[in-house]
Amino acid sequence: MSSSTSGTLAIQGGPKSVTTDPGDLFHWPIINKEDEDAVLEVLRHGSMSDTTITKQFEVEFAEWIGLDYALGCSSGTASLHSAMFGCGVGVGDEIICQSTTFWASALQCFSLGASVVFADIDPDTLCIDPDDIEHRITDKTKAIMVVHYTGYPSDMDRIMSIADKYGIKVIEDVSHGQGSRYKGRKVGTFGHVAGMSLMSGKSFAIGEAGIMVTSDREIYERAVAFAHYERYNQDIKSDSVKDFRGLPLGGYKYRMNQLCSALGRVQLKHYEDRIVQIQGAMNRFWDLLEGVPGIRALRPPKGSGSTMGGWYAAKGLYDPDALGGLSVTRFAEAVNAEGTTCGVGINKPLHLHPLLNTCDVYGHGKPTRNAHSTRDLRQPEGSLPVAESIDRHTYTIPWFKHDRPEIITEHANAFRKVAEHADELLADDPGDPGNIGRWSV
Ligand SMILES: *Cc1c(COP(=O)(O)O)cnc(C)c1O
Repeated sequence: MSSSTSGTLAIQGGPKSVTTDPGDLFHWPIINKEDEDAVLEVLRHGSMSDTTITKQFEVEFAEWIGLDYALGCSSGTASLHSAMFGCGVGVGDEIICQSTTFWASALQCFSLGASVVFADIDPDTLCIDPDDIEHRITDKTKAIMVVHYTGYPSDMDRIMSIADKYGIKVIEDVSHGQGSRYKGRKVGTFGHVAGMSLMSGKSFAIGEAGIMVTSDREIYERAVAFAHYERYNQDIKSDSVKDFRGLPLGGYKYRMNQLCSALGRVQLKHYEDRIVQIQGAMNRFWDLLEGVPGIRALRPPKGSGSTMGGWYAAKGLYDPDALGGLSVTRFAEAVNAEGTTCGVGINKPLHLHPLLNTCDVYGHGKPTRNAHSTRDLRQPEGSLPVAESIDRHTYTIPWFKHDRPEIITEHANAFRKVAEHADELLADDPGDPGNIGRWSV
């Protein structure tokens, strides 16, 4: 046992591991005068609904990620909806997506007349299990929706080779992974198109906004046609949409608010430097905990060229069996008592929600999930075992925004101390409650 973590647990009356005030350690996004000036200028000009600044942001964002086109949207939900339409997802089509994710990775497909088939996740990455994709592909499968969950880059080599074999599209949901790299290259650039949230809680945080990126001109033009009426003009030449210019095909308006795009231009200039700080801090935290029983880093192997980007909603992996069966709920309580933050709860598997099982949203006379399908697409409890039990095997860790070794060591010591004293918590462990996941996060 290391000397820094000896002694009584704080939850049992001992001293806390963390004693230093965090200051701005967790504060995000970082807003300086440059950001304020950019937003105020839009306000003073009254140009909130224009697109001139958004178009500049799009050019800069496309260049940063390394693709030809970016389309500013009102939300991540809108960007992914546009990406689905861009790929031609329509009536009777199916997309394949992991069940452990925020609802906006998938639910928009219903309004296109399509449906979703969920795949399980890999318990070591929390991303789609590449071995659980191929057998779900049918002649209706139009796209795989790939989520780089908590910024962990999905296995794009495997996924792209499956997609290529069947001639289906790959849409990347980069809402957690702005700046994450897979084998050295930014995620969002492997599939045919990517969409992502840029809302305030995400790593790239500029308000309520999203962006779609692609190098496929037709996908881009279809997305413009879908929900950007005033940009759906003579520049839009793709055969599938060129005859209907002037009115949005989706009946949606998904334009980005320029308060967001002005802020986005400033944030983008600093983003790489800031995520380098985050990566340094988060890797330092995990390096300090290497080999501690029961807890394990959720990060790609060192030397793989893969990174976690801005470490969105950073999590750790938990093995209760290595800690005498201690529940993650009790573990997290004890860690919190040490003065750091450790939360339980992860996106509850979407396939278990009634919307995906019984709800008839649009009046088809049958569940929307099966509205245009000749077979029952629903997936009962027990069908995706990893997604259904991952809430017991994960917890959140402090999301450091600056690499400050001394205070990060205090936080790491909190986790180490509880793991090393886990046996003292077993006697009064009530166990995990029935369900600790949440659909609304
Ligand atoms: C946040 C999020 C979205 C949706 O983005 P909004 O900007 O909130 O509409 C989509 N997918 C994932 C995985 C997300 O976390």
